[in-house]
Amino acid sequence: MAKYMCLDTLKFFLFEVHEIQSVFLYKKHLEYSKDTALLVLDSTKEWADQDFYPYIKEMDEKPVYFKDGKVYSHPVLKKIFSEAGQNGFLGNYFEEEDGGSQMPFSLANASNHILESANNHIPGYLGLTNGAAHLIATFGSQTLKDKFIPKMLKGIWGGTMALTEPQAGSSLSDLTTGAELLEDGSYHLKGQKIFISGGDHQGVENFVHLTLARIAGAPPGTKGISLFVVPKFLDENGSLVYNNVETVGDFQKLGQRGYSTVHLVFGEHGPSKGFLIGEPHKGLSYMFQMMNGARIDVGMTAASTATAAYYHSLQYAKERTQGRKILNSGKKNISEQPTLIINHPDVRRMLYKQKAIVEGSLSLLILCSKLQDIAICDTAEKQKNALLLLELLTPIAKTYPAEMGKTAISNGLQILGGYGYCMDFILQQYSRDIRIMSIYEGTTGIQSLDLLGRKVVMENGKALHLLSDMILSTIQEALGVEKLKPYAIKLSEKLKEIQEALSYLTTYAVQGDYQNYLADATIFMELISNVVIAHQWLAIGLKTQQQTTNDFQKEFYISKYQTMRYYFKYELPKTKAALETLLNKDKLTVESEDEPFLL
Ligand SMILES: Cc1cc2nc3c(=O)[nH]c(=O)nc-3n(C[C@H](O)[C@H](O)[C@H](O)COP(=O)(O)OP(=O)(O)OC[C@H]3O[C@@H](n4cnc5c(N)ncnc54)[C@H](O)[C@@H]3O)c2cc1C
Repeated sequence: MAKYMCLDTLKFFLFEVHEIQSVFLYKKHLEYSKDTALLVLDSTKEWADQDFYPYIKEMDEKPVYFKDGKVYSHPVLKKIFSEAGQNGFLGNYFEEEDGGSQMPFSLANASNHILESANNHIPGYLGLTNGAAHLIATFGSQTLKDKFIPKMLKGIWGGTMALTEPQAGSSLSDLTTGAELLEDGSYHLKGQKIFISGGDHQGVENFVHLTLARIAGAPPGTKGISLFVVPKFLDENGSLVYNNVETVGDFQKLGQRGYSTVHLVFGEHGPSKGFLIGEPHKGLSYMFQMMNGARIDVGMTAASTATAAYYHSLQYAKERTQGRKILNSGKKNISEQPTLIINHPDVRRMLYKQKAIVEGSLSLLILCSKLQDIAICDTAEKQKNALLLLELLTPIAKTYPAEMGKTAISNGLQILGGYGYCMDFILQQYSRDIRIMSIYEGTTGIQSLDLLGRKVVMENGKALHLLSDMILSTIQEALGVEKLKPYAIKLSEKLKEIQEALSYLTTYAVQGDYQNYLADATIFMELISNVVIAHQWLAIGLKTQQQTTNDFQKEFYISKYQTMRYYFKYELPKTKAALETLLNKDKLTVESEDEPFLL
């Protein structure tokens, strides 16, 4: 079986770089230890080898399809749901009283990385079921919990998040699905939802749609949105009764073709019953729990898909011969055997680029997962700070892997030359699969607005201060290590560029000119992401300087150290271009709004 991820790297990030052992000391996670965590990772890898990786190509070649009102998915899905129910993957991070095993997010998300690298078409089905059940567990009544969670955690029913409508994608304030109160306290929902991932398939017998809708008479905008549980079938004393949630199509897509994406119509040919979660009009705030988790999941899926692509291109580069090495004389010795392409500096550059992006992303995502744990379990002060930092980092952890993962995979495809473009090799599939990740769960444009418009300014910029403090403390430590000193100095210069950009942009905000403040939010995202990932690499670099006990560790650390060098030489300088654009006074994209500029 081809290598699709690296367990040693994952363990190094978990236990050495981010020292997640500290979260096992929280009361909630006392059942866990490094040994149990290693067992979880190893058994997840076995599961991925057996039931995920073997189907990655087949799920693309024989995609989900819609026929006569039914959505047909790959048969392995049924097995996966049932196994996920039995092996405790579903509900792994839930409280015990809700049927979970209180697994730390750090470990649960690391397991996701293994499964997503093996086959990025499958884990979304499970992740959405987990996310939907968790939302019911957190905000739902006991009746709703009893009715839905056990079947979902057994893998008998699947969960979804149903937000998007034809006219309301990025702007949820425009959603129009309506909800009428019925005499029994439930609601009748009417409307359409599109692009609903995992919204119908053959892997489970029922679907639990966590649906955003507007109760009749609710105020306009996001303050009038409520959250409902709307199952496809109602469970009436053990028999499933159709609830008029009609699947009218499955979208045929560029990538992730084994992951269903359906169009749902509620209440068109009879009442669709929905059950309110929590209080009316507070639906969006509840939904954010699922959305924030899903953003970390999407970042992880992107990092994982690009990881699999990296290992495929690495293997190819170690097997393919082409051309000869350039001699110092500038000539080629044509009588020599062709060399492996990995010996060409340009191919090595492309390999380093992929490694730097995917491992930098993975490290950031593990940091975010650890923050999720601290935000729930630590002292009040630490919880608050962890949550603030997590809020700031979430749009970055979603966007950087999704955007730069595309570039990484494109470089992987390039390494295969003409074969990379051919269907026989999987690189083309990965490049199609990852394309969606900068679109769903909030596009890059929307994540960037969230970052600059909300996260940077919340609590008077406190989250940004926490980020700076964290980076500065790593810089301080690295300054004490001779080999890392130049990198530490470089990173401290780059940190100042974020401040420089913000000082300039803020001049717009203080004048109330938010259009210009936010016009280049995506460029600001590029700048800050680059610095945040450089910080991950410096932190990784620090861990490579410890004592080694064997040859494998020595080589392993050298490869990480060299990738850090790559990052600082080739990627980090790109902040300068972003900064130059951000400081440029030309307001082209704002001022050209009414001009016929695109003829
Ligand atoms: C395969 C797939 C799976 C999906 N799964 C789900 C799911 O499970 N549940 C669900 O509810 N939804 C799901 N979605 C919907 C997805 O979240 C939306 O497609 C996405 O949020 C964008 O909305 P839209 O397609 O309407 O694009 P639009 O909102 O119309 O955006 C079009 C473009 O305009 C930009 N734009 C929009 N508004 C602004 C603004 N204010 N400022 C700057 N730029 C802006 C966007 O960045 C984008 O580039 C899925 C979509 C796909 C394709």
